[in-house]
Amino acid sequence: MTKSSAHVSVNNYQMYINGEWLASDKEQKINVVNPANERVIASVPKASREQAKEALEAAEHAQPGWEDFPPIKRATFLFETAKVIRRDKERLARLLTSEQGKPLFEARLEIEGAASNFEYYAEFARRIEGDVLPSDNPRQTVMILRLPLGVVASITPWNFPSATVARKLAPALITGNTVVTKPSSNTPLSTIEMVRLMEEAGFPKGVVNVVTGSGSDVGDELVTSKITGLVTMTGSTEAGRTIMSHSSIHLPKLILELGGKAPFIVWHDADIPWALKCAIWARFWNCGQTCICSERMYVDEKIKDKFVPAFVRMVKDLRLGDPLGNGTDLGPMVSREERETSMNFVRKATQEGDRIIIGGEFPVTPDRGWFFEPTVIEDVKQKSSLVQDEIFGPVVPILGVDSFDKAIDYANDSKYGLASYVFTKDSTRVLKAMNRIKFGESYINQVGPEQLQGAHTGFRQSGLGAEGSKYGLECYTQLKTCYVDWNDKPALPYLFPYRDKK
Ligand code: NAD
Repeated sequence: MTKSSAHVSVNNYQMYINGEWLASDKEQKINVVNPANERVIASVPKASREQAKEALEAAEHAQPGWEDFPPIKRATFLFETAKVIRRDKERLARLLTSEQGKPLFEARLEIEGAASNFEYYAEFARRIEGDVLPSDNPRQTVMILRLPLGVVASITPWNFPSATVARKLAPALITGNTVVTKPSSNTPLSTIEMVRLMEEAGFPKGVVNVVTGSGSDVGDELVTSKITGLVTMTGSTEAGRTIMSHSSIHLPKLILELGGKAPFIVWHDADIPWALKCAIWARFWNCGQTCICSERMYVDEKIKDKFVPAFVRMVKDLRLGDPLGNGTDLGPMVSREERETSMNFVRKATQEGDRIIIGGEFPVTPDRGWFFEPTVIEDVKQKSSLVQDEIFGPVVPILGVDSFDKAIDYANDSKYGLASYVFTKDSTRVLKAMNRIKFGESYINQVGPEQLQGAHTGFRQSGLGAEGSKYGLECYTQLKTCYVDWNDKPALPYLFPYRDKK
């Protein structure tokens, strides 16, 4: 195994296992490409399964010592991590944009969000709460404790490579677990840099480890190992399903934050100029590659003829270009494959007779990079794949609806159930939407992103468990009930022998 003390040399990044920076033991690499110009910007090791195993063993070895620290001491490492992330915010944001393609403005917000996750969960140090309950028996107490699960395998996607990993590492660590994290091969650099900052923040060796490699190989090793106590994965529903099935061998706990197909309902009584601004952003931020992005719009028939042209005019004004440049609204998509997937939705819609009112092409300029014109499609059917399947790119279908109840029925007619949006000023409609729309989040007269204190969770195939909030924290703990007797002369009426009992 190749060892070194640095995490990067000439952009050859390394993995972090048991406090050491390592290359692949098979000397294999994965290239990281800048989606805005298609140039290779760095490489990361392609880890072997054996290296993933070593990382798990290191985390297992470090866990009892980490659990022994009082949470308030564990919190000091998380606070320090937040501090050094903020110190390096600009550098991290530029790196994030270079590997993922989002506009620098959004990347800065994401880095700020990552730092805030560490602070938010550090503040739970004195609030990892159990229960003390009365017993059914005299002089006994029932206590429910929250214990760490042990080793957490964290698996993250490419669309928010800094925020998603921070949202997993922070609650896992404050509750006394140790972690092996695996980023997406499209965007591994942001995670490696975050772990380097965690090393600087002083985390003891083995508490945080990062391995890089494919999901089906390295990811699968993390998921199927008997060392792993919890798998927390954010990604596609398809991969979540595979993880659920493969992990059944040792049954670790699972948090799965999966795909979405957010409905965006606009009613005639809404603040329409505001709804338009929100609709544009909710679909096109991060070039449409966000799990809570608006993926289908349901517009009240009464306003559709005015709303849709106004929406299209605003789409025309979006500035597509260099994500590091000033004033860019949309950068490229993350990869050629993702762009192709979005284009396939457009091709299919065209074949089915849907009407593309703007976009639908790869732009002529910039002439390199995986850019995609923001696209709006009308006359779409509810049962079409454009409305039923996750697009995850800058393409939005718009449907007219003639009743609010029908809009809710259409919204719920989905295998996904993550985020939803409703714009109306009528309080009865607001309450109806809150109760009847079966999605884990509803943004009402407002857009995301989700906030730290909110529970990020989904109905149906959008996942299991939660992230963010105290409920997200609880998912990283194992309940343990203790029945404690404090009788001087203990006695229970139902013990053996039964011969004198009726
Ligand atoms: P993906 O499922 O392709 O990959 C996500 C991660 O899982 C990657 O690190 C990948 O290597 C790993 N992986 C894939 N197969 C695996 C397996 N069999 N075993 C172990 N690990 C495996 O997803 P992606 O393309 O990176 O991200 C886009 C998807 O993520 C979209 O569907 C989006 O909606 C979803 N997402 C959901 C949320 C949420 O909070 N619900 C947030 C962001 C993204």
